[in-house]
Amino acid sequence: MTTVSARPLDVAAIRRDFPILSTEVNGRPLVYLDSAATSQKPRQVIDALTDFYSTSCANVHRSVHHLAERATNKFEGARARVARFVNVATPEQIIWTRGTTESINLVANAWGDRNLAAGDVVLLTEMDHHANLVPWHLLAKRRGVKLQFVPVLDDGKLDLEFAHARLADDGPDRPKLFAFTAKSNVLGTENPVADLCRRAHAAGIVTVVDGAQSLPHGPVDVAALGCDFLAFSAHKALGPMGVGCLVVGRPALYERMDPWQGGGEMIRRVRLEDSTYADPPLRFEAGTPSAADAIAFAAALDYLEALDPVAIHEHEVRLTALALDLLRPMGLRILGTDDPAQRAGIVAFDVPDVHPHDVATLLDGRGIAVRAGHHCAQPLMRRFGVQATTRASFYLYNTEDEVRALAEGLAAAMEYFRR
Ligand code: PMP
Repeated sequence: MTTVSARPLDVAAIRRDFPILSTEVNGRPLVYLDSAATSQKPRQVIDALTDFYSTSCANVHRSVHHLAERATNKFEGARARVARFVNVATPEQIIWTRGTTESINLVANAWGDRNLAAGDVVLLTEMDHHANLVPWHLLAKRRGVKLQFVPVLDDGKLDLEFAHARLADDGPDRPKLFAFTAKSNVLGTENPVADLCRRAHAAGIVTVVDGAQSLPHGPVDVAALGCDFLAFSAHKALGPMGVGCLVVGRPALYERMDPWQGGGEMIRRVRLEDSTYADPPLRFEAGTPSAADAIAFAAALDYLEALDPVAIHEHEVRLTALALDLLRPMGLRILGTDDPAQRAGIVAFDVPDVHPHDVATLLDGRGIAVRAGHHCAQPLMRRFGVQATTRASFYLYNTEDEVRALAEGLAAAMEYFRR
């Protein structure tokens, strides 16, 4: 991300687009600091959903009637919209899925089962979400592949020396695939995706990037990153729940992928005994897709792209820096780097001797929503010697006053537990 200063975001105007942000929780104005779990949705996205069901509801790719054609055109238009947002050459490189989790499962099944055999090494990292661990555990059980992990250092960064050495290894333990998160959902750490992909490709290693926490912050350029697969969910980037994408970085990869789910939509011809398949991407989209959600996701990308990504970044860094300044003197243990610019708006912390659920419950009493738990990253929790943490995550609609409300709420919670 460049450091050129942008015109600040008009946060007051942005907030007016999000109906939920003017509601109250427990008699207090909602302070929503859980966008890393799911973002709130602007009116434009909610309207796109209502509009589909009010004016265009029909199944896609099936009928020739007027509504079906309209629905299909909008659905395929949304695919093209995503392709532009992530800068790939053709919409055919976008596979609709239910989200990041399904996208990574798709790669593990469709690419993994076809190309990996017993003893092959899959390289992962210690900071990965369960969505980028468990599909590979399942593959290890099915195929006998070996899993290796890039460690996380005390400052929350990946051990890049280790990663570079593994990616340069040309012995029998050379990884065949490297799957890693672009931004950690716990530490906020932003990994050097382009450099890691370049090193992997120099060694012929296929790359899978978990973009769940990077897409919300502005366009992601797959061509510049050079990854083979990019997985993400719409719901963290202002879009609806239940839809996401797998971006296939090079169409040639399709030649080495087998269908993984069977049913309608993904076939060319079916006889009682066997079937042939549609061309990609439909080959990987069995069953009725979440068409309304895909179309509303395109509206979310329109919304996101109309904002300056540098301004979004600077706003999130400002909020994160303020949070670190306010929380550091409070005696909390804050996980991850000191650099607010490297945190993707995320601050996860441990309040000594107080369970995160208790912290989150007291904050909720003040209308403040934070996440408490292991954040679907149990190995990372273990790495830092905690069972769970409290996590505040800041997004484009949050304000400095909300960060101050968090600090005040935390101070009150800590005082309550001291007594
Ligand atoms: N990876 C990361 C880094 C995430 O933060 C999340 C969501 N918490 C996921 C994967 C899984 O996303 P989803 O549940 O939308 O499939």
